[in-house]
Amino acid sequence: MRKKIVAGNWKMNKNLAETETLLSELKSKLGETSADIIVAPTFVNLYNASQALKDTTIDVAAQNMHQAENGAFTGEIAAGMLKNIGINTVILGHSERRAYFGETDELLAGKVDTAIKHSMRIIFCFGEELEDRKSGNHFAVVESQLKNGLFHITAENWKNVVLAYEPVWAIGTGETASPEQAQEMHAFIRTTIAKAFNNDIADQVSILYGGSVKPNNAEEIFAKEDVDGGLIGGASLDAESFSAIANAI
Ligand code: PGA
Repeated sequence: MRKKIVAGNWKMNKNLAETETLLSELKSKLGETSADIIVAPTFVNLYNASQALKDTTIDVAAQNMHQAENGAFTGEIAAGMLKNIGINTVILGHSERRAYFGETDELLAGKVDTAIKHSMRIIFCFGEELEDRKSGNHFAVVESQLKNGLFHITAENWKNVVLAYEPVWAIGTGETASPEQAQEMHAFIRTTIAKAFNNDIADQVSILYGGSVKPNNAEEIFAKEDVDGGLIGGASLDAESFSAIANAI
């Protein structure tokens, strides 16, 4: 049985007071969901968030990290620093990091290695752009993002990996992949993993869908066989919406 996961990527939103308010609302609303819940507040609020959630089953993730252990990297955050404040999960390869901060597959492969070295759970994001889909290149793009950024890991490492397929054209646009488009890509991803590794790994890895998931479309997307949950941006900033999505699992 694959883990069902609903993760909220708060991006650069919510100051400390707003973070605390949202977390306490979530604590009271998320009661009955059967999914694993993860929230990813901004770096400066991670410590408070992990303290606020320490007696709950809600996990806290960082939205990014640097690949080096420490050193002269002004403005960056190391894996060891995250672990030290109780953060064991990191989102890597989000399309905004790739597009606005120049993160390449090669750089991401290095971050993946660092996360593995620190036994962190990785939510590895990838997905095609609109032109790729229009030109029918979306499968090839997704395959190469996976191969170049992630597939150097060992079979053993997969237990710490969660995948998040996020077509760039669906992020923050209000345009969602149809449940059929999501299912088609998720099934392709599983087949690609089975070929490169084995069936067990392909069957066991949770593959989340991300891109304009809302309370009104979550249920039909999550109902698809190979969709194991979602990575939620905009709708994770509101306790009502995020819990409705989590309860749609
Ligand atoms: P969205 O963002 O739900 O606002 O489209 C998803 C994401 O960027 O992870």
